[in-house]
Amino acid sequence: MASEAKKILLVEDEKTIRDVVTAYLEKDGYLVRCVGDGQSAIEEFEKYTFDLIVLDLMLPKLSGERVCRAIRDTSDVPIIMVTAKDGIEDRIVGLELGADDYLIKPFSPRELIARVRALLRRAHTESEPALETLDFGDLVVDISGHKVMVEGKEVDLTASEFKLLTTLARYPGRVYTRMELVEKVLGYDFEGYERTIDSHVKNLRAKLGDDPRNPRWLYTVHGVGYRFEAPATAGE
Ligand code: CA
Repeated sequence: MASEAKKILLVEDEKTIRDVVTAYLEKDGYLVRCVGDGQSAIEEFEKYTFDLIVLDLMLPKLSGERVCRAIRDTSDVPIIMVTAKDGIEDRIVGLELGADDYLIKPFSPRELIARVRALLRRAHTESEPALETLDFGDLVVDISGHKVMVEGKEVDLTASEFKLLTTLARYPGRVYTRMELVEKVLGYDFEGYERTIDSHVKNLRAKLGDDPRNPRWLYTVHGVGYRFEAPATAGE
């Protein structure tokens, strides 16, 4: 498909990582601009238009956290947050600041490319009319008809379970924190209700016949929340 190259802003203060990541992104056909500190990231962002931002959390001058906040004030551009340690706190901070995804260092450049592609694809479909049916082969979610089919048989879901499933399944691979799911599915914002999401997920899994120890669709992201994975299908 001939289309204009997507522009990526890479914010990373470690030169070796910057060079490797840039090389991989360019090889994959992206146009990359690099900056090494938070202040420059904001300046660059104000000057140019980007399709996606890869943002390190620990940066000189202005932290990735503050950069993310500043960008989110004016833009919905997809952001992948890169955090240095496997701290659950950091991941949640990143997602709650409005980052779309996160990567933990050290990460493989191939993993980053996969996330970039997925996020750009998602950003693209979000601007198109809403999908009426999500078809994952054995699992089909008919959003307008409010129907879910597993292996051809209709499954009876409650309104909350249906909302939970469609929220997760619209963006396969995206991690949702429990708090996000509480807001999206239940429509309120109260910490005590995070466990409610766990119960809904448990019921939904039972109804879909999805084994949590060997999931087909619904994955637990330990200490964070949940994500939906579309099984490998044709066209991906
Ligand atoms: Ca850093």
